[in-house]
Amino acid sequence: MPFDHVTAPLPSDDEEIRRALEHAEIAALLPALAYTTGDLSLLRDDLRVDAALSLLPGAGLSDEKLAEARSIAFDALRRFRDGGHQMAPPPNQQQLRQMLEFVVGTAEVSDDYLPLFQEELGIPGEDLRAPGWRAEEIAGPRAEDLTVAVIGAGMSGLLAAYRLQQAGIQYVVLEKNEDVGGTWLENTYPGCRVDVPNHFYSYSFAQRDDWPQYFSSQDVLLDYFRRCADEFGVRPNIRFRTEVASAEWDEERSVWILHLITPEGDQTLEANAVISAVGQLNRPSYPDIPGRESFAGPSFHSARWDHDVELRGKRVAVIGTGASAAQFIPPVAEVAGELLVFQRTPPWLVPTPEYYQDVPDEVNWLFRHIPTYAQWYRFWLFWRNAEGMLPLVKVDPTWTSQESVSSQNEMLRQFLALYLTEQFGDRPDLLEKVMPHYPPGAKRVIRDDGIWARTLKRDNVRLIVESITEITPQGIRTADGTEHNVDVIIYGTGFQASKFLTPMKVVGRGGVDLHERWHGDARAYLGIMVPSFPNLFLLYGPNTNIVINGSIIFFSECEVRYVLGCLRLLLEGGYQSLDCRPEVHDEYNCRIDEGNLQMSWGVATVNSWYRNEYGRSAQNWPFGLLEYWQQTREPDPADYVWR
Ligand code: NAP
Repeated sequence: MPFDHVTAPLPSDDEEIRRALEHAEIAALLPALAYTTGDLSLLRDDLRVDAALSLLPGAGLSDEKLAEARSIAFDALRRFRDGGHQMAPPPNQQQLRQMLEFVVGTAEVSDDYLPLFQEELGIPGEDLRAPGWRAEEIAGPRAEDLTVAVIGAGMSGLLAAYRLQQAGIQYVVLEKNEDVGGTWLENTYPGCRVDVPNHFYSYSFAQRDDWPQYFSSQDVLLDYFRRCADEFGVRPNIRFRTEVASAEWDEERSVWILHLITPEGDQTLEANAVISAVGQLNRPSYPDIPGRESFAGPSFHSARWDHDVELRGKRVAVIGTGASAAQFIPPVAEVAGELLVFQRTPPWLVPTPEYYQDVPDEVNWLFRHIPTYAQWYRFWLFWRNAEGMLPLVKVDPTWTSQESVSSQNEMLRQFLALYLTEQFGDRPDLLEKVMPHYPPGAKRVIRDDGIWARTLKRDNVRLIVESITEITPQGIRTADGTEHNVDVIIYGTGFQASKFLTPMKVVGRGGVDLHERWHGDARAYLGIMVPSFPNLFLLYGPNTNIVINGSIIFFSECEVRYVLGCLRLLLEGGYQSLDCRPEVHDEYNCRIDEGNLQMSWGVATVNSWYRNEYGRSAQNWPFGLLEYWQQTREPDPADYVWR
């Protein structure tokens, strides 16, 4: 298995252990020790974190309680070491539940989480989402007849390739770029980094115990995905600089015919199944502002950063204050002569002191020396950043405020508003501009360690909130009539997220064109299957994005397992194709739409890429990660027409 993780024996130096324990997360540490030693008395009620305070350091535990927790952890570790590192037998379900309850603190947690939890833990380092079967065992020589084309070698395409390889299914990956990495290859803007903690934003089966930072920068992530491609052994099956222009289903022969644009000229390729792994956020969206083409100076989009354009000493305009702009504005401010930030809607900021911090050696020590700590830590992140946050963005239909959607959401709003007030308290002029007036969760929340306030308060930075009316050859004109002359314009204006699979042409059964079918309102069953498009599987398709910071990698792992399950059924049954039943697809989408209307992003009347031109949320998954995991564990054959 790649990135094999071996726990090192504990050292004889007690001080070394104590030093490392100072850096441990108690909510992950004590369950790890209970698991390792079998001593469940470590999971004391008075040492459980307060779920409502999970965003604060210590999560509600006093300094005395934290010290007590570290002290009992130290004693347990010393006993474990001195007893010869004997692992306790694996816990039973009831014991595991106790551990799970400890991780989530005071929150309620249902038994349904147990199997997911066991799989996420993957103890002892097993890859429980791997197919666990080989095509030739299932279908004998017929396995040779199944070929799969994967479009894209980004995070999800590499994962699909690896799983196909594990299952012994013939595949090829078609990648338009000259290397793997997808979004982490294409986005090279200064300051680019992930905003989901890396110990969670990484493949469950390819964990690192040496991430240099909690939130890695783009180069580190690109390196991770390159290394994965190498260690998975999938590189030889990737055709780089090969773009899929179109895919057409041939009903007679049950194959997809792909038209490729390659350095050697246009080609065709046939495959029985196609997995689209083209991503949602890679086609830049430029604003429809009059005069945009007239600007005389250089201009570019954040995802197409022009590194040849010198920004040092220049007057630079940035349009947008979303997740991308919030990352590149601080480094640009450091070099620009003057920086004008054009903000339409202010983002909420979530305090994240460790956002730019290195992972201390002591934390990596914990991963290496305490059995299962890395897995518990990962599950703690899963809970703290995703599942545990969901209730905070759920709509209470009786709630009447426009600025929050429920009492819990209001609490979160006040917490975030207080943070902004602290950050900008000395600049009331700025505070007024940066304070959002929409519910948290309606847009992506930006991680911040104070850098946003430091940047906007700089002498060379101006935050402009008047709306833009025109772009002129010299700069940007705003509604108050001012023309702001600038040398360079940078668009941090996001992506055409609702145009799934464009610009590819996809033609399914009976000549139906996917984009005509969707008409700008993309839908799929589980985000994966579209009726009349047999054997076409979408990864990161409609309604599989998450607003509260779950990891898209978690979704991809669920999707890819489901796809492999479908391929297995094809092989087992000797079928040539599977096609999603329209009624299954439609009923599912009704549930999704209802679900999204109960979430902050589904109801708030604020601009966001989370809704398409019809106002429908075609991007987001409205439920917990648990529900998606449950629904994609294995396909139900009754959902499909098999031929
Ligand atoms: P975005 O969230 O869509 O932000 C676009 C920004 O441009 C918004 O501030 C938007 O204002 C503004 N804008 C758009 N059209 C405009 C116009 N005509 N006039 C003025 N302002 C305009 O795009 P993004 O920042 O690239 O982020 C997209 C998504 O990518 C994120 O939500 C996240 O999922 C992902 N992402 C992740 C990371 C990470 O992990 N670190 C980093 C970057 C991006 P309004 O708010 O008023 O629409």
